[in-house]
Amino acid sequence: MKREPLIIAATSDIAGKVRGKSFPASQLDKRLKSGIGWTPTNVQITCFDSIADSPYGALGDLVLIPDLTTYTELDFEDGLAVERFVLGNIYETDGSSWECCTRSILRAALERLEAVANLTLYGAFEHEFHLVAADSPQGNAYTASGFRAQREFAEILVAAIKQAGLRPDTFMKEYGINQYEVTIGPVSGLAISDHATILRELVRICAERLRLIPSFTPLRDPADVGNGVHIHMSLRDNEENAVTYDPRSRCGLSRIAGQFIAGILKYLDSIAALTAPSVISYNRLVPHRWSSAFNNLGFRDREAAIRICPVHRLSDVALRDQFNFEFRAADAAASPYLALAAIVHAGTQGIEEELDCPAVTEEDLSLLSESALRNRNIVRLPQTLEAALEIFAGNKTVTGWFPPAFADIYIKHKQGEMAYLSKMTESEIYAAYGSTY
Ligand code: GLU
Ligand code: MG
Repeated sequence: MKREPLIIAATSDIAGKVRGKSFPASQLDKRLKSGIGWTPTNVQITCFDSIADSPYGALGDLVLIPDLTTYTELDFEDGLAVERFVLGNIYETDGSSWECCTRSILRAALERLEAVANLTLYGAFEHEFHLVAADSPQGNAYTASGFRAQREFAEILVAAIKQAGLRPDTFMKEYGINQYEVTIGPVSGLAISDHATILRELVRICAERLRLIPSFTPLRDPADVGNGVHIHMSLRDNEENAVTYDPRSRCGLSRIAGQFIAGILKYLDSIAALTAPSVISYNRLVPHRWSSAFNNLGFRDREAAIRICPVHRLSDVALRDQFNFEFRAADAAASPYLALAAIVHAGTQGIEEELDCPAVTEEDLSLLSESALRNRNIVRLPQTLEAALEIFAGNKTVTGWFPPAFADIYIKHKQGEMAYLSKMTESEIYAAYGSTY
């Protein structure tokens, strides 16, 4: 008997998990119109498979409609099954967007940016992860031999990135034990998060083929460095011109980019629950882990929440087109759609409020007193998920960016996740996140 090729149609949900159902590939045309059935309460399945308090209970039906632009087919030519998956949007049966569809939430945020400022976001997610029990022990930070220990994985991954229609950029041995980093080329709008979601799946698929276990957990051990997700962004006008750069300003940021960044930083403590959404995320967001701990703007500073990235004159790409900034207070426990939606709304709010771009910080902020920080409008980011959720829930401007029921459902989801961990020791909590992400 010949195998029947199946396509998984999936969504990236509140837990940052890619969940879906498969159907025979021969039905693709039909499924692009009729979709697959989906259950509202699935959104309350936590990253540990516990089910958080759900307003939907056992009721209701939704439809997940695949978007062909995300269709990914990978033939590894190794005799094993060809991988096929496609991402989609979730709708009510009357055709309206479902309130917890993360991809529709991002689309709405991008539409707001376009409506308010006539701008498109251009960008890419940079991912760090580790390979559990791989063979690159201590002493291999950024080394060629640490890279070579996973050359086979890296070469398969880069081939998969190309086959999936993403643009490979770099792959390297990161600083931590068994830690690696992969970057891809930037794209516009919704595709930024589509590509981040696809890339995480590619890492998993390629690792599984080689019997490696990948983990994007935000922090695998309190003594270690974290697995960050750095979101690179720049802004383009409706003629595709890069408008982030202004060589006359102090750090090269245009006025509109400065307002966008000011909005992200103003609302950062309120959106951290969406960009760094696990219990252990907050042990990564501490000073001296090269992540970020304050709502500051840095010029090429790897401890800043937003870092203005380097550009150089040796490149044949114009400085204006290279210029970008990166958001560092994110990790892979977050759905790429929700994290980016929160950032885009915050940035757009900054444009609407015509905020001034904050001055760049140049020192170790952890050494400043509370009053010195307050004088400069700098706040320490929330230090627990519980605190982050409280700030999110209390900021009606921020919860108002999302569909009406969303904030409450999100908070209940995260409370369910925390309840699952409540009787565990610290090392059990790290292990639980390490294996689920
Ligand atoms: N691992 C760090 C993080 O958690 C980032 C290190 C780097 O700058 O690449 O964000
Ligand atoms: Mg890195």
